Amino acid sequence: MSEDKLLFDADRNLITMGDRRVVFHCHHYNLFLQRTIEDGLGTQDAERVQVAAAMEATRAMLRSRTPVAAAASVSQQLAQCNRLFGALGFGQANLTHITPQGGRITLTTSHYAVGWKAKWGVAKHPVCYFPLGFWMGALSVAANVAPERLLGRELSCSALDAACCELEVEVL
Ligand SMILES: [Zn+2]
Repeated sequence: MSEDKLLFDADRNLITMGDRRVVFHCHHYNLFLQRTIEDGLGTQDAERVQVAAAMEATRAMLRSRTPVAAAASVSQQLAQCNRLFGALGFGQANLTHITPQGGRITLTTSHYAVGWKAKWGVAKHPVCYFPLGFWMGALSVAANVAPERLLGRELSCSALDAACCELEVEVL
């Protein structure tokens, strides 16, 4: 992949990034899918499964980068991930307090939190499973940390009327 660019093939009507196809879904699709999984598994297991799935999808996507992009410093790679996160429509992230040893990521906007409130009102629990998994996957690849060494949780979520979403990633 050339950096973090999304490429549109008009002849085939495909969007790709590296060797991966990219499909965009609206908040209706994404949140109904999330809620359906919660209905089936319960909130705790649904969160665990969706965070893990998001982390693995993100790791696979980032591993398809060119060697040049993958050779950038940790902070450069995280900045690339932040541009990608925004370009994919997941929100705006502030990475001031994240290091290769972990830390916190603030989402000033979150597709999942804004979408949840728009559809169903104030949530009963944090809802940003995909963003949490995305940033765990991004840190795993950028800092070359095995995914099983990462713990993550959402400390506050704007779907619960917090001012912003705050994610915490810990490296064991
Ligand atoms: Zn949130």
